[in-house]
Amino acid sequence: MQALIVVDMQKDFMPGGPLGTPGGDDIIPIINQLMDKFPIVLATNDWHPKGHVSFAASHPGKKVGDRIQVGEIEQILWPVHCVQETVGAEFAKGLHTEKIKEVFHKGIDPEIDSYSTFFDNAHLRKTGLEEYLKKQGIHKIALVGVATEYCVLFSTLDALALGFEVTVVCDGCRAINLQPEDEKNALEKMKKEGANIVLAKEVL
Ligand SMILES: [Zn+2]
Repeated sequence: MQALIVVDMQKDFMPGGPLGTPGGDDIIPIINQLMDKFPIVLATNDWHPKGHVSFAASHPGKKVGDRIQVGEIEQILWPVHCVQETVGAEFAKGLHTEKIKEVFHKGIDPEIDSYSTFFDNAHLRKTGLEEYLKKQGIHKIALVGVATEYCVLFSTLDALALGFEVTVVCDGCRAINLQPEDEKNALEKMKKEGANIVLAKEVL
C-alpha cells in the first residue's frame, strides 16, 4: 500500500500569504486528483507556537532571510507563518481535505524549526508519521506539496534514510526559489539519494 503525503498545503504558504510559494495554488487541482489514486492520504501542517525561533520577528535586529545559528543548526529566518489555530495555518482553499485521514504537525517546539515531515531539524522530536506508517504496514510513500527545496526535500531524505520507498510527484510540488536553482538542485539531490521523481500524469 502506498500513502500520499500532502506537505504543508496551508494558506500562509499560498500566493498572497506571508510565505507564499509561487504557483502554490496551481497544484491544488493536481493534488486533489492524486488523492483519488491512493488508498490512504495523509498530510502535514507547519504548526508553530507564537514567537517561534524561525520567525525573523522573534529576533530583534534581524530580518527575513537572515541566517542565525541555533545551537548546532543554521536557521533561516522567515516571516511569521502558520501560527497554531490561526487562519493562515488552515489548509489551502479548494484542497479536498475530507480525503485526508490524518494530519501530522511539525515545528511545534518553540526553539527548533522542522522542515522534515518526520523529525525536527535537530532530529530530536518525531512527528509520529514514521510510527503511523509502519503500524499500517506502509513502506511506499509519494510526496506532493510545498516547498520543494525545504519541507519536501528534507521529508524525502528522512524517508529514504528510514527505509521507505519514496516517489516525489514533481509537478505536484512548488518551490520558493530564494536562489533560482534551488528547485532544480533539490530535485537532483532527491533523485541522487534514491527517490523516484515522476510527473502526475505518470501516476494518474
Ligand atoms: Zn515554518
